[in-house]
Amino acid sequence: MRSILAVLIALTLSVECRKEPRIVIIGAGAAGIAAASTLSRNGFTNVTILEADGRVGGRIYSLRFGKSLIDLGAQWCHGEKNNVVYEMVRDLQVLKVDDTSPELYHSTLKRVDSKFNARLNRLFEDVYFADNYGAEGSLGEVLTERYEAEIRKIWKNKDELTLAEECLDLFERYVESELGSFSWSTVATSVDFEPCEGSQVLGWNGLGFKTILGVLMRQASGPIERNIALNKSVSGISLESGKVRVSCSDLSSYTADHVIWTPSLGVLKHLHANVFKPNLPKEKVRAIDTLGIDGIMKVFLHFPARWWDDNFEGVAFVWRQADLKNSSLEYPEGPKIGNRSWITTIYCTIPLQENPNVLLVWFIGPLVPEIEQLSDETIANGAMHVMRKFLSKDYPSISHPDQITRKNWYSDPNFRGTYSFETVHSRKLGRSQAAVLAEPIRAADGKPVIMFAGEATSTNHYSTVHGAIETGFREANRIIELYK
Ligand SMILES: Cc1cc2nc3c(=O)[nH]c(=O)nc-3n(C[C@H](O)[C@H](O)[C@H](O)COP(=O)(O)OP(=O)(O)OC[C@H]3O[C@@H](n4cnc5c(N)ncnc54)[C@H](O)[C@@H]3O)c2cc1C
Repeated sequence: MRSILAVLIALTLSVECRKEPRIVIIGAGAAGIAAASTLSRNGFTNVTILEADGRVGGRIYSLRFGKSLIDLGAQWCHGEKNNVVYEMVRDLQVLKVDDTSPELYHSTLKRVDSKFNARLNRLFEDVYFADNYGAEGSLGEVLTERYEAEIRKIWKNKDELTLAEECLDLFERYVESELGSFSWSTVATSVDFEPCEGSQVLGWNGLGFKTILGVLMRQASGPIERNIALNKSVSGISLESGKVRVSCSDLSSYTADHVIWTPSLGVLKHLHANVFKPNLPKEKVRAIDTLGIDGIMKVFLHFPARWWDDNFEGVAFVWRQADLKNSSLEYPEGPKIGNRSWITTIYCTIPLQENPNVLLVWFIGPLVPEIEQLSDETIANGAMHVMRKFLSKDYPSISHPDQITRKNWYSDPNFRGTYSFETVHSRKLGRSQAAVLAEPIRAADGKPVIMFAGEATSTNHYSTVHGAIETGFREANRIIELYK
């Protein structure tokens, strides 16, 4: 009898010694899937992913619309060198350069001369990508000052100079679309972001950005889909005697040795004070408060027949000052700032190479939250009003879309924004606030127990899918190192 007991004790102890840590990953976006896949490849089998939404992918959202898949969220792989997305798919022949260059149209119904447009595009890039910004002031102030100085050097003719002055508003929409900010006045001048060399607009040839999620999942040693629980919104994370207790709004709960949190900076801003017990450290709260995340809006319009031709590469809209200022008198329906209507916040519209009857329209700026609340019909009417106003001379047979789709990233409680940026305030703190955000919460014995991944925790590739994936790898490796 005593020997049976001894065997039982020995067995229990050996199981205890071999016991794997229980890991809960919150969020099944790029960072969460990357972390789960890395853990699985390294022999960790006790991993659960809790996802608030009813689908996997987060801000990667590929959807069938028209003849192929469209991307409501991330669309292009930005760069090649040191880009983990590019590296994972380079041999699969799935990426294709989407090098459309939209024409410029002016609200006086003129198509802007293509030589002027080409020069303006070069100027936008030169001014935007010049990396010797001073640390003081906002990006908006610095770029405005530079832009105004440069256009005076390039264009001496009065009409051209006036047009270039009017294009400052377009430049602002271009920069804000890149950064995802409502205003370039909140964005820091010098930042830690490092663009990856190579094409910045590598599209997925109609297969959707979700291709990368399949690649990540196939790198796991088993089907990680089985470990994903959908519609599980996490509402509480508490550290209790070295273990983490995760509670969900459906009243289920999980106990884990390690938790990896991946929801967006917008979700953190909104929830952190209620979710984390004890409260997050002061430095991390400061990082959450000072880093920025606003929103842009992509609207896809499907037309029963194409009213544009094969040479159409899209259009960017330049408003004459007077037209801009009075636009809400011309188009009274919908939100406005002063007398400026929401319809003037369209940056551009572009055709999709692999989806012949679809145009993509970008709304940029501080009215995005209100535009998200408009009905599909109101948005389609506003977008078509702009297209007809600017283009009907060259495209007399403009028709109305028969389908529209979009995703309201800013008002969706699972995202609360599109992608993060460094603000004037976060920059003033000196140290990278993304690095502060990435620091794990440790138990009393120093073991990292609550970890943070997701694009906003990347110091140099934030705002991108490749940045998000790198952070998932980083936190999975932190756990792997601990158990080596
Ligand atoms: C419109 C748009 C365009 C973009 N364009 C590009 C582009 O062209 N190229 C590029 O590289 N990047 C682009 N991005 C950015 C890119 O999509 C993101 O950086 C990246 O996908 C973020 O991945 P993530 O895993 O960090 O976060 P997410 O994808 O947000 O994943 C976090 C997950 O957590 C879930 N979640 C939230 N709250 C909870 C909760 N309480 N409980 C449980 N789960 C929760 C969310 O539902 C989500 O699935 C774009 C983003 C948007 C929105």
